[in-house]
Amino acid sequence: MMLDANHAPPVPAQPQAIRREDYRPPAWTVPEVSLDFDLDPATTRVRARLEVSRREDTVEPLRLDGAGQRLVSVLVDGVAINDWRLDGDTLEVPLTGDTHVVETEVEIAPDANTQLMGLYASNGILCTQCEAEGFRRITYFPDRPDVLARYRVRMSADKARFPVLLANGDPIASGDLPDGRHWAEWHDPFPKPSYLFALVAGDLACNRSSFTTQSGREVELGIWVREADLPRTHHALHALKLSMAWDEHVYGREYDLDVFNIVAVDDFNFGAMENKGLNIFNSRYVLADPDTATDMDYDHVAGVVAHEYFHNWSGNRVTCRDWFQLSLKEGFTVFRDQGFSADQGSAAVKRIEDVRALRASQFPEDAGPLAHPIRPESYLEISNFYTATIYNKGAEIVRMMATILGPQRFRAATDLYFDRFDGTAATCEDFVQCMEDAGGVDLTQFRLWYSQAGTPRVSASVTHDAGSGRATLRLGQQVPATPGQSDKEPMVIPLKLRLFGAATGRPLTDEQLVMLNQASDTIVYEGVTERPVLSINRGFSAPVVIESDRTPDELAFLSGTDDDPFARYEATQQLMLDTLVAGAIEGGRTNHDAVIRAVSATLSDPSLDPAFVAEAVLLPAEGFIADQLAVVDPEAVFAARQALRSDLARQLEEQWRAAYDGPREPYAYTPRAKGSRRLRNVALGYLAATNTGDAGKLAFTQFAAADNMTDRQGALQVLANGDSDERVAALDIFYNRYADNALVLDKWFQTQALATRADTVEIVAELSRHPDFSLANPNRARSLVGAFGVNQRALNRADGAGYRFLADQLIQLDKLNPQTAAKLLPPLGRWRRFDATRAVMMRAELERIVAVPGLSKDLFEQASKSLE
Ligand code: ZN
Repeated sequence: MMLDANHAPPVPAQPQAIRREDYRPPAWTVPEVSLDFDLDPATTRVRARLEVSRREDTVEPLRLDGAGQRLVSVLVDGVAINDWRLDGDTLEVPLTGDTHVVETEVEIAPDANTQLMGLYASNGILCTQCEAEGFRRITYFPDRPDVLARYRVRMSADKARFPVLLANGDPIASGDLPDGRHWAEWHDPFPKPSYLFALVAGDLACNRSSFTTQSGREVELGIWVREADLPRTHHALHALKLSMAWDEHVYGREYDLDVFNIVAVDDFNFGAMENKGLNIFNSRYVLADPDTATDMDYDHVAGVVAHEYFHNWSGNRVTCRDWFQLSLKEGFTVFRDQGFSADQGSAAVKRIEDVRALRASQFPEDAGPLAHPIRPESYLEISNFYTATIYNKGAEIVRMMATILGPQRFRAATDLYFDRFDGTAATCEDFVQCMEDAGGVDLTQFRLWYSQAGTPRVSASVTHDAGSGRATLRLGQQVPATPGQSDKEPMVIPLKLRLFGAATGRPLTDEQLVMLNQASDTIVYEGVTERPVLSINRGFSAPVVIESDRTPDELAFLSGTDDDPFARYEATQQLMLDTLVAGAIEGGRTNHDAVIRAVSATLSDPSLDPAFVAEAVLLPAEGFIADQLAVVDPEAVFAARQALRSDLARQLEEQWRAAYDGPREPYAYTPRAKGSRRLRNVALGYLAATNTGDAGKLAFTQFAAADNMTDRQGALQVLANGDSDERVAALDIFYNRYADNALVLDKWFQTQALATRADTVEIVAELSRHPDFSLANPNRARSLVGAFGVNQRALNRADGAGYRFLADQLIQLDKLNPQTAAKLLPPLGRWRRFDATRAVMMRAELERIVAVPGLSKDLFEQASKSLE
């Protein structure tokens, strides 16, 4: 049956906001689905057989979501019907009874799918991406996470081109067909929402292994990649086994199917996807070997493998009722993967990295026009809500509850949660309820973290009366206004704190957990015989900004003596930040002495882990410095940072050289060897900042001699930032060496887009015309356009060329891949933070974007909200 007049295609409407308060349970459930895929890159035919069941007392017709497919036929209980109707993209099927079998047949075109949602082709592999609403691009279905169905999947395809056919669950049967085709059938016994559906067809090789679970079941593991990439899969496979063991150990969670497969694809909108039993990954989070992947890449591979694996319980066994609950699975799972990574090496360094990432991506989001609570109230396009707030702030909120409950009660609470909601679609409220029930705590006020956006600011000051031995700590909190939320209630802020004696360096109190739950509070300490110095938000116990009146000397003191490594790092950062903010405001020379002394002391403290030292001596990022200013002057921020950097470089040159020339470890991916590489590369950066002439040679020598990507790329970034003769040579050598490795070429683009040179805009514009550049591949687009967007100096160049370039790229990218385009827009939305000239130019680019005919809902939402 073809479309007739009654079934005309939809007229595109103004995007409609979806609201959390409008949630209604589904009218029809779908206990069983059978899907039959006749796979072909040009036209794939999908036959779906849905057993549907009316929920008590509903009179609604069956409504099935769809998008972008050609409907061929509809059958009800085996009989072709003609009274179905298309309401926009929704297929309405009138049904009289309480249970029916509804069959549809559609055609889709994987080859033409550039948005990479639904079924698409990536370098000859056919694969799916369904979260959040991609399944409706494959077949008509109630595409919402609270409809859980059991899936049987049959695939047939050309055997030579697609010898491997994978889907969720367990393989049941397979065989050959005439005309060089073959078929395979998979069943997934666990009911799941459609967003967890997956299939893969391709010419793939497998790194196989197995894992024995705590109850003694054998699970077959497979990492599927192109044959040539097999040698780069060992790290991911190892990380998978570690993750499986860790989740048993730490959360008591065991894997539940007989097979667990991971497939790497080159074209992917996000990092990876937790489809039941068949995780599909962006190849950059699977493939790693020392020659092509940095230590950070290795860490990310392990972290993402763990994250997706952990979703099997936090996401799949217990899923989300609706997309407003996204942080239920994402915040919790990020918290879980952070715990896993912390246990693989230095927990302190991991915490520092996570907090730095939060400050780089979530704090600006929370302070800008796109700020939203971790459980939003409305959206136009759900893909825009896969944000640092949902993920990273969401993880911080789970962490605060874990802190409040303590380890034993938190474990009891997660056990209760998994037990109570196994096999169902739950809400954030359900999770918090379990924390209360098992933890014996009242989290009524704490729930504000789910509904209030904005990063709370906590003021803290200590006064001391030497005569009476009394110290008084005054705390205050203020939650800034965010879009749609002008008045905020005081939140519950768990603050770990401790007092140290300024004279003796001795701790004056134990570490205590203070719950700040009012606008202001006062804590009095008696018997304090020496002037106290406040160590607060230790371990970053709450995702807040601390405003304290601690002097540079006090911060330097904590930097050298605090017993909490995070607090020690934090004191150093605060000291640097205060100095840099003063420098950016005053323009001229500010006093750098306290920072130089603190960094010198850190570098020469033999008790410290080199990996920690490397983090602690790094200056705060330009964007984070800018966040502290009322009006951002990006040139002044850059200049202040360069001035402090070169002062540190020159005055501590001996120490940087000692760190650089110190004992070297042969290459290994161990915490120890990683730490020494990290410190050495940080030292190289400082040595280059001495501007003594031989920096280029030193970096080039490291670049040429490197036997691993960490050292090679570290040197290349130093060279790319500078103006030495070796810069061009190194970039050419790197390009030629890795011309056929897409993931490494991404680094070549990214390194240049991140460069702190004055002409980065021109370089990046030129690179956008390079034959190896393409917006169609999300990794490549991000490596140039995404990296450029976070390069503060380049993006915010006074003539507006940076804004123009970014907007041009986004408009082009939107035509291919709206999701990826929308993700790269936020830097343009920060106009309120800049001077009037820049603000006008940024707004003009946002307006240009909004006016593009046929703009996607994704980019429209981001750009229009950014203008408000
Ligand atoms: Zn996730």
